[in-house]
Amino acid sequence: MKPAHEVTDAKSWRGARSPLDVARIREDFPILKRQVHGKPLVYLDNAATGQKPQVVIDAVNRYYATENSNIHRGIHFLSEIATADYEESRAKVKRFLNASDTGEIIFVRGTTEGINLVAQSYGRRFVKQGDEILISAMEHHSNIVPWQILCEQVGARLRVVPMNHDGELLIEEYERLLNDRTKLVSVAHVSNALGTVNPVKQLVEMAHRRKIPVLLDGAQAAPHMKVDVQELGCDFYAFSGHKLFGPTGIGILYGKSKHLEAMPPYQGGGDMISLVTFEKTHYNILPYKFEAGTPHIAGGVGLGAAVDYLSGIGLEAVTAYEKELLAYATEALCTVQGLRIIGTAKEKAAVLSFVLDGVHPHDIGTVLDQEGVAIRAGHHCAMPVMQRFGVPATARASFAFYNTKEEVDVLVRAVHKVLKVFR
Ligand SMILES: *Cc1c(COP(=O)(O)O)cnc(C)c1O
Repeated sequence: MKPAHEVTDAKSWRGARSPLDVARIREDFPILKRQVHGKPLVYLDNAATGQKPQVVIDAVNRYYATENSNIHRGIHFLSEIATADYEESRAKVKRFLNASDTGEIIFVRGTTEGINLVAQSYGRRFVKQGDEILISAMEHHSNIVPWQILCEQVGARLRVVPMNHDGELLIEEYERLLNDRTKLVSVAHVSNALGTVNPVKQLVEMAHRRKIPVLLDGAQAAPHMKVDVQELGCDFYAFSGHKLFGPTGIGILYGKSKHLEAMPPYQGGGDMISLVTFEKTHYNILPYKFEAGTPHIAGGVGLGAAVDYLSGIGLEAVTAYEKELLAYATEALCTVQGLRIIGTAKEKAAVLSFVLDGVHPHDIGTVLDQEGVAIRAGHHCAMPVMQRFGVPATARASFAFYNTKEEVDVLVRAVHKVLKVFR
């Protein structure tokens, strides 16, 4: 099945208003046809997870229906084609991120596991008592807690780069916090709670001047903008398949091979060894050294299909279109009395967190749900961000390339309805 989207080459879309044929793209996503509470679904919870195009659903189905077998082991026919498909997905991800080698692409369960892998493997080998790990004030809990665990284990200290009231990192503070004890910087490429796009290339350059490696949490970036790990220069990059319109339970950790080679395994088991005796085990080569046990094969195959689909649409076109949606939605929501947007950075991805005077975000979410509008209300796994802005929670609408301005209009009408109910 061919993904339905207009073919746009990199030159022709520039300056055009909207190069995406969104109506046709929506046909690729079966779930977008369904109703919720008798209303057409308006799915604006893309920062929590993305919907799946038919090509991804088909790839997973086809795998189970025609190829299911264990990989890297069997010499029988099915095992060989399953292995080839799984490894082809790895090669697709390598091209997607512009990594220099497939050995640098490790399949994990998601962003969370990718960060934990680095914390427990790189961290426990190279971070010592008195050392420091630097994160930012806008991190997801997945990029806070693994470092707290590591710091507790080795006696290191977690330090935090503050942000201003728009949700932008304070670069001078970052510079000030980098020091000889800093052993690793780990920051979000894009904030899930605020939408801020951090100047990650600059952050990497500044850390590298002091030879400090940098991990980027790409969970909210990889689905929405072109990511080139060599261009960014980052040492590690983690993202989740399910936010990139692929299956749940599969994700990617990219790591420079010089680091991965120097790191001990994260977990022990099958597939990550080359030879086992009771005296000593020899570890497998990259990337298998970090992939113990039977992996999520169907997930890997599905992620390959998702990467193909998204690349087929074109990340530049996706970014441009989502920017347009964000501007439209921001302007429309600003007309609602008593509505305050949390996260007003100059560089933003299409995430709109907001609060309404006198209405709890959960009540906003409940009323919107009755209108078929799916948003998220809560702390977005970023409690420190909520504390920074002095709110218990926010309502968050987050967009993808299949959303439309008409859906934004439905959202805004529904927010007006919230006001009628609660004021
Ligand atoms: C979703 C998210 C994570 C965690 O991703 P999982 O898929 O739950 O592992 C980490 N960081 C950011 C910025 C996220 O948005």
